[in-house]
Amino acid sequence: MTNPSGIKGKVYLVGAGPGDPDLLTLRAARLLMSAGLIVHDGLVDPAILSMARPGARLVSVAKSRSRHTMKQDEINALLVREALAGHDVVRLKGGDPFVFGRGGEEAEACRAAGVVVEVVPGVSSALGAAAAAQIPLTHRDHASIVSFVAGQCKGLSDQDWSGLAGHGRTLVIFMGLATAAQICDKLIADGLTPDVPVAVIEKATRRDMRVLRGSLAGLADLVSFNKVQSPALIVIGAVTAEPDTTVRALALEATL
Ligand code: SAH
Repeated sequence: MTNPSGIKGKVYLVGAGPGDPDLLTLRAARLLMSAGLIVHDGLVDPAILSMARPGARLVSVAKSRSRHTMKQDEINALLVREALAGHDVVRLKGGDPFVFGRGGEEAEACRAAGVVVEVVPGVSSALGAAAAAQIPLTHRDHASIVSFVAGQCKGLSDQDWSGLAGHGRTLVIFMGLATAAQICDKLIADGLTPDVPVAVIEKATRRDMRVLRGSLAGLADLVSFNKVQSPALIVIGAVTAEPDTTVRALALEATL
């Protein structure tokens, strides 16, 4: 595609969803299967990458907490360079590209260079994980406010989370494994009681997904005792409480 400035390549910022290839949008699947160049981060499941067309160029810019194979500036430069060279680029990101995915920075860099960008939304892991774990993020009896925060970011202690968790609220924490103990202290200092229910959802929608439940005070132990691995989300609030056993018994009866 040629844009008005004569640049032929276009950059597609595509959400790959939480892991299960069935949760790709049709648009994401179509782009993935037709792209000549796919630039992906470490969160994208190999099962999704295997959908790329034979001969497609796959470039990993794998990012994890301790391992940055390519700096953000270099990723931006790569996308722009390829587009200016006339190639369409599918930039594949876990979840949704605009939820803690630095999609905003990549879109800005492309626009600044005159490169046309299209953003294809994905199922954010917050939504995918909650659905797969059957934890309703909102519930008329328990929560009518949901917040997404990053647990590992510039200056966690300076972040103001006041009022984001507690009665009638659900808090979803991305990238919170390594800072679970600080998160717990921060929320308790903010007035939450230690017995607030929490859930940790590991590798959501993937074959080896786990859902661990506990209370806020036991969050760090829950993570370390179970050796929870990335990617995982921490969900705080009444909606994460173990489902009512009488309801479960009724459901079981109904299926017999
Ligand atoms: N853009 C992504 C988030 C990227 S930040 C999205 O919308 O989901 C990376 C964090 O997302 C991980 O540290 C983890 O907290 C969360 N995450 C991504 N995929 C996940 C999965 N399958 N299960 C649990 N958490 C996941």
